[in-house]
Amino acid sequence: MQPTALEDLAIRPSAPLLIVDVDEVLAHFMAGFERFIGRQGFEMRIDRFALFQNIYRPGEGEHLDFETGKVLFDAFFRDGADDLDPVEGAADALASLSQRAGVVILTNAPAHALESRTGWLGKHGFDYPMILHSGLKGPAIAAMAARTTGKAAFIDDLLHNLDSAAADAPAVARFQIIADQRLRPFAPTVPDKHPLHEEWATLGPALRNAIGLGNV
Ligand SMILES: [Mg+2]
Repeated sequence: MQPTALEDLAIRPSAPLLIVDVDEVLAHFMAGFERFIGRQGFEMRIDRFALFQNIYRPGEGEHLDFETGKVLFDAFFRDGADDLDPVEGAADALASLSQRAGVVILTNAPAHALESRTGWLGKHGFDYPMILHSGLKGPAIAAMAARTTGKAAFIDDLLHNLDSAAADAPAVARFQIIADQRLRPFAPTVPDKHPLHEEWATLGPALRNAIGLGNV
């Protein structure tokens, strides 16, 4: 599959649209990153909703500093990002929904992640156009949703992206899922504003409903 620029994206003008994040939505990022840093001699102790602040040198009580964490993060997207487990049920749910809705993958990852990210998505059955993005996602979501009269929905694990979507594209339905069970208890959520799901078994039907495809 190929990465796509926002302006080149083919969006059917009256079809429903799903805009979907990758890490902790389609891919078990934390678990894959944990394996990667383990091979570099670090360990993860998940006790907050954070990334680098959950990484430790064995035996130490202080988490890694940001700079060291960033080096590991960049290395992961260069060498380790193929090794991510797909989130259970996500590929089947999107395959079913995509029969009548457009699907766009909107992922925040470094530019050098392009190959590993598109490769991983294709390999695991997520053969949809991908936008490699950085920063808050609301403006991109608004731009995409403006190109169809169909209903749209956005799925992400991060509250700031969901809040950004609510501010910039309020008509787009929002859903939150945090695939990593260890991370979930620490995740900032506002379920009244952004409905929260633990698995695609419930998220899939909720999306179907939100974009006007009715119940299964
Ligand atoms: Mg994510």
